[in-house]
Amino acid sequence: MDFQIASRLEKLPPYLFADLRRKMADARARGIKVIRIDIGDPDMPTPDPVVAELCRSVTDAADPDRHRYGCDRPVEALPKAAIDFYGRRWGVNLREDQLVITMGSKDAIAKFAFGILNPGDLAIAPAPGYPTYNIGHVFAGAITYQVGLQAQDGFLMDFESIPLEVRRLAKVLWLNYPNNPTTAVAPLEFFERAVEFGRQHNILIAHDSAYSENTYDGYKSPSILQVPGAADVAVEFFSLSKAFNMTGWRVGCVAGNPSAVKALARVQENVDNGQLRSIQFAAVQALNHAEELMGPINAVYQRRRDLVISTLNAKGWSLAKPKATIYIWAPVPARYKSDSTAFTTDLLEKTGVMVTPGRGYGQWGEGYFRISLTYPDVVLKEAMERIAAMSL
Ligand SMILES: *Cc1c(COP(=O)(O)O)cnc(C)c1O
Repeated sequence: MDFQIASRLEKLPPYLFADLRRKMADARARGIKVIRIDIGDPDMPTPDPVVAELCRSVTDAADPDRHRYGCDRPVEALPKAAIDFYGRRWGVNLREDQLVITMGSKDAIAKFAFGILNPGDLAIAPAPGYPTYNIGHVFAGAITYQVGLQAQDGFLMDFESIPLEVRRLAKVLWLNYPNNPTTAVAPLEFFERAVEFGRQHNILIAHDSAYSENTYDGYKSPSILQVPGAADVAVEFFSLSKAFNMTGWRVGCVAGNPSAVKALARVQENVDNGQLRSIQFAAVQALNHAEELMGPINAVYQRRRDLVISTLNAKGWSLAKPKATIYIWAPVPARYKSDSTAFTTDLLEKTGVMVTPGRGYGQWGEGYFRISLTYPDVVLKEAMERIAAMSL
């Protein structure tokens, strides 16, 4: 059979980690014990009360709908729990038409593009950044304008650097704070500027808040929806994945501008059939007990963060402790002349430790590498001992 796959797949960015995967396999073949500390996917289990609620509801014979399409039988307590959470956490009072439940943010980010963007439309995304913003644009036939995040700006997007022509044409602008991969956090004043920028140029601000709950040293991350009038200009993508060790469960929400929320809901209705009811029930449990559940999780990340930072700083780095996210973002040592691939390859060869080269996030990530804190303490500890013993 002779057929050609869709040309849109050819427009996807190349998978820059393929080369690293090969290098890792080579190192293993040569007998090196490889330790991965590169991927951001929580290692700790989902909290017991959430798992218990899943088990209860999935075996609840009194709920005849428990195995059926979630979209037709949504758990009404879930949007309510999300609205309560926004109220408690940020003092944001959402109406029901300002919120939609999602099957996680990655899914929602890609579907959002289908709901908002026409072929040829322009959308703005941060670089380095989460790849799915651009991938959604590519699938929708839209074009991404990348704004480089700079260390001297604290990796906050510099709206002034966006050319007037781009401001005129762009329909959506993506933000992500606390930020992956740079670990930067944004003060509320930054979100005020973002909302103002969106209003002035008629650009919908789409804020990805995947790490809003992974915070340390008492830091509380703001929501863009705290800005007065933001629900007119912005939407926020919240996810249970990183907050509650629930990446595999696929559940989150999007809140803000009602037309944008509705557009996403319409794509969802036409593409998926909603999440399993039991997962929705479990998500209610997570949101209703968020404060108690997150404390112990963040205490572990904070301890791991301190271990990695003290190891790197003892080796000559001078890194501040990130206030949020599950990553460490650090410049490569000077002698690698900003070549993150050369550094990470050398590190792998000499120590077996696998970190992510910033280059994997595109040219704006070059010069940096990322460590993930989502590995058991013993694993991170051994990785840090090997780095400490390496001559740099
Ligand atoms: C992990 C991550 C997501 C995806 O989260 P899910 O809800 O699990 O799809 C979205 N954005 C960023 C920046 C992430 O790091």
